[in-house]
Parts: sequence; C-alpha cells; structure tokens
Amino acid sequence: MRKVYLDYAATTPMHPQVVDAMQSFFAEHYGNPSSLHSIGQYAEDAVEKARVKVANAMDADPAEIIFTSGGTESDNAAIKGVAYALQKKGNHIITSRIEHHAVLETCQFLQKQGYEITYLEVDKYGIVDPDDVKRAMTDKTILVTIMHANNEIGTIEPIEEIGVLCQSKDVYLHTDAVQSFGSLDTDVNKLGVDLLSISAHKFYGPKGVGVLYIRKGTRILPLLHGGGQENNKRASTHNVPGIVGLGKAVELAIAEREERIKRYVKLRDRTIKIFEGIEHTWLNGHPEKRLPNNCNVIVQYVEGESMLLKLDNVGIEVATGSACSSGSLEPSHVLLAIGISHEDSHGSLRLTVGRLTTDQDLDYTAEQLPRVIEELRKMSPMGKRGQATF
Ligand SMILES: *Cc1c(COP(=O)(O)O)cnc(C)c1O
Repeated sequence: MRKVYLDYAATTPMHPQVVDAMQSFFAEHYGNPSSLHSIGQYAEDAVEKARVKVANAMDADPAEIIFTSGGTESDNAAIKGVAYALQKKGNHIITSRIEHHAVLETCQFLQKQGYEITYLEVDKYGIVDPDDVKRAMTDKTILVTIMHANNEIGTIEPIEEIGVLCQSKDVYLHTDAVQSFGSLDTDVNKLGVDLLSISAHKFYGPKGVGVLYIRKGTRILPLLHGGGQENNKRASTHNVPGIVGLGKAVELAIAEREERIKRYVKLRDRTIKIFEGIEHTWLNGHPEKRLPNNCNVIVQYVEGESMLLKLDNVGIEVATGSACSSGSLEPSHVLLAIGISHEDSHGSLRLTVGRLTTDQDLDYTAEQLPRVIEELRKMSPMGKRGQATF
C-alpha cells in the first residue's frame, strides 16, 4: 500500500544530513560541554557552532539564543519568565484565542496565580487586529504573546505591526514561530520581537530540542534552576546531539528555503484544489496570508475522526480538529474562534505537505479522498442531511 504522510505540521522526518551530523555525538563525542577537558570542549564547540547558525538565521546575537527542550518549553519559559520577572511592574498579558496550547495553558496557569489575561478575538480568517492589541493595553501590560503563524489553519499574523506597537509602548512581545520557521522570514529585528520560540522537529530536526530567542536586556527569570548553563537562563546539561541536529536543520532550512517554499505552495494549492471538486467543503484560514504548506478544510456532514481513520486505512495520514482527536469534548478552539459552528468543526481536516511530498502522493490522495467522503456521507446520520441538499 502507498504511504502518504500529510501531517508535516505535527512533525517532520529528520533530514538525512541532520541524522549524519548528530551521529558522532551519541557515543564518540559524548563530552559534557561544561567540562574543561578536551572531550568536553569538543562538545562545547559543537554547541556554540549551532548557536551561531541559529543566531544568523534570525539576525540575532549568539548570546541571545537559549537552547530548550522544544517549542512547549520555549513558550513556557518566555511567558512565565517575563511574568515573574516583571511582577512589580504589572500583571497583564495580552494573547489571542487561537494560540497553541503551550501558550494558552501557560496563560491560564498564570491567570490562576492572579495575572490578568486578555484573550483577543480574531476575524473569520484567524487574524489578530493590531488595533485590538492597542486597545487592550493598560499601564499594567507587561507582555504580548501572539503566534507568527497558526498551526491548525496556517494563518499568518501581522507580527511586524504588533512589534512596532509594542516597542512604542515599551511592552515585551513574544511570538511562537514554531510553525513559521523555515517557511517565513523570522528575522527578529524585522518582526520587532523580544522573544521568539522555535522547535527543531517541525523543520526536519530532532524531537525534544528547541530555541528561545531572548533579546539582549530583556528582563526574564529562568524556568529551570540548577547549573549555570545557557548564561544562567536554562540549567541542565546540554542535549548535545539534539542541539547539533537543530543547528544542521536550521542551516538546511535557510539554504533550501526558497526552493522548499516554491514546492510547498504548488503542492498545497493542488491539495486545496482536491476539495474544490467536493461539494459542501470549504477552506479555513486566509486565502493568501497562510503558511505555504497548510490546507485546512471543513467537510460538512462527516466526522473528522472517521475520515482520518478511513484515510489511514488506505495509507494517507492527515489530522483533524474535531472533538475526539483533541482529547476533549470540545472541537478545536481555533475553528470555534474563527466562527465555525460546533457541528461543522467536527468535519475538519488538516493536510500539511512537506519536503518528501510528491505529485504522485497527491494524485493518490485526489483519487481516495472523494471516495472516502462519499462513502461516509452515505453511511452517517449526518450524511442524510447532507444528501437532502446535494
Ligand atoms: C508543535 C508546536 C508547539 C510545540 O512544540 P514542541 O516542540 O512539540 O513542544 C508549539 N507551538 C506551535 C505553534 C506548534 O506547532
């Protein structure tokens, strides 16, 4: 059976050159970068080389780069770190309704501790209005955290505009760039951000390693206390193979960026076209301001899980924002925030293309998808309603 992976927003396979780069750091160059002997310094040198690559990729200084265990930790460290450091200055944080759980849950945790959180509404495309950010600001506002691009619907947020605003108000701006790194320009100075999160496994690097960019002078407390690693901003012995792999993945993402984007856009647009031929479906997110690899649709009168499992049976791997798959009773908070009804949200599908996606993969998907949807609509009680309007 053909295998077609269309879930690159969930994770990506490591680039073979990333695997190669990491290899010798498991058992051969196993030193602790904090050790002063040769094997330790060899590891230290590798970590610092990776740091320079990351810094160059976002126009930052190497001293502004902190290695973490991934996107979730970077988001937690940024938000809690600023909240705790600026407790005396204020307790108000502005975010949006469509952030990743790593941001939303962190804000909710702080809310229980007495912080005030404003969750901004978005428009029907999922875009945050910079004027809303401005209106929400008070003299107690210490941080704005808005994602660069949404992981479910692919919408790109106006971070540059929000950056200018935050600078003028002297309020820190954090952006979760986990989905956008490698696909959009993540130059921290152009974006005007003070903190930015990325995660290696979303751009062909290893899982369990990420970066938090912290602009020089930003007041922030560490999440982890212990040794003095990462300039006292993140204790714990470095994940050396992971960091080396992340560095290589960053280098490849920058070198291949134009080429990757061009391919992704073509493949994404072909994926969107498949649904144009299927009745009672529509595209979620913005038609242009969207990630080059994201297609998110509603397929009315069918359950997302049923589609996902039936597609998996024929080797096609996709994601859904419907309730069961989210592990809660509620469907995706992102779809609800852009005004999709509960009922329609259950029929959401996300197909994200990547480096290894081929035209043949999409030929096969175009052949299987309409059949799977038709079969499910015939079977399901919701389908009956659908048929009446067909
Ligand atoms: C995947 C993802 C995260 C979490 O990153 P991990 O490295 O898996 O912890 C955070 N934010 C966004 C937007 C993501 O897509």
